[in-house]
Amino acid sequence: MFAAGRPHIAIPGPSVMPDAVLAAMQRPAPDIYDPALIAMTESIAADLRWLAGTTHDVALYIANGHATWEAALHNILAPGDEVLVLVTGHFALGWADMARGLGIGVELMEFGRNMPADPDRLESRLRADGDGRIRAVLVCQTDTATGIRSDIPALRAAMDAAGHDALLVADCVASLGCEPFEMDDWGVDITLSASQKGLMTPPGMGFVWFGPRAAALRERRENVSRYWDWTPRARPDGGLWQYFDGTAPTHHLYALRVALDLMKAEGREAIWYRHATLARAIWAAVDVWSEDGPLRIEVPDRTARSHAVTALHAGGDLGERLSRWTRELAGLTLGVGLGHDPQSAWFRIGHMGHVNAQMILGALATIEAGLQALDAPHGRGAIDAAAGVIATASRTG
Ligand SMILES: *Cc1c(COP(=O)(O)O)cnc(C)c1O
Repeated sequence: MFAAGRPHIAIPGPSVMPDAVLAAMQRPAPDIYDPALIAMTESIAADLRWLAGTTHDVALYIANGHATWEAALHNILAPGDEVLVLVTGHFALGWADMARGLGIGVELMEFGRNMPADPDRLESRLRADGDGRIRAVLVCQTDTATGIRSDIPALRAAMDAAGHDALLVADCVASLGCEPFEMDDWGVDITLSASQKGLMTPPGMGFVWFGPRAAALRERRENVSRYWDWTPRARPDGGLWQYFDGTAPTHHLYALRVALDLMKAEGREAIWYRHATLARAIWAAVDVWSEDGPLRIEVPDRTARSHAVTALHAGGDLGERLSRWTRELAGLTLGVGLGHDPQSAWFRIGHMGHVNAQMILGALATIEAGLQALDAPHGRGAIDAAAGVIATASRTG
């Protein structure tokens, strides 16, 4: 009815791709021996280090986020080794299952679905692990299903306080390029991400950054898959093929180069501030909606809320009906609930990567129209509140 026009896909990945990123892929196949392509790949690796706040190694894979889970685990752990997985949502469980498939022993530490990982509980668990059986602690900085963001520096501090030498492995697939992240300053041993969320590039590339303690564990491994081995990818000495153990994902590289150019031009702090402000505009709208009716964000601590994705509980089957209304009648696609029961009560808003104030205000106003059209109870004045957040932030900078 009102959906003709440019649709907006507000799902938590793949995210909106900038026109310049799309245009960069519109070209013929290059010569993969062209030195310019090798130089561009080197520049991409350098800028990926900049983005993650590290001077250490980064391996690039033709892969999605799931593959980076496996790549990281396989390089440091053998079957029979044990990991502790901090669970704040569906994605941590998927990662844990990936570890089980590799024959790795998995212990889950559950924090529910509305709280971040608790550093105190991590510290006492590690203190109890006197003989150091736990080789790595796996945590999603943002779990994309719940929109919970855990405090990575606080978790590192807990590990240090326990005097435990497990590696800290952070999944930043949803958060990198949206939230502050400083791999080296925060003492993260391995960081993972993928191309299609904060990095605004089509799905299909995955990245694993690894520090010296992780590299040392890799050296002690006996059988490392040639394909997943991160060493030649991070330290190639024979041309472009080594970066990818075969043909490079040429058009993804052109796209990613442009995406990183956009990010460098904006600056990390400015990107983080934009995401933080847009997230606060969403929370302000939900606060008003929740004054009358079931709509709410179930993460009370604002410092534990993601700036890249928000999960909303709408009750009944309103999540599903509202999403259908916004998509079919207004051109706005929202994310489905993930790992929630019942799933139809939930929806998610992806606000990662190439998003600005008008896109978020448009999405919120469209949701508001859907709530009105469906006669769903909700507090009035949400758009006013969201606009106020943007206006105030524009004055204070
Ligand atoms: C999206 C996502 C993944 C999985 O990435 P895929 O590319 O879909 O395999 C893993 N972890 C987090 C936190 C994510 O947001």
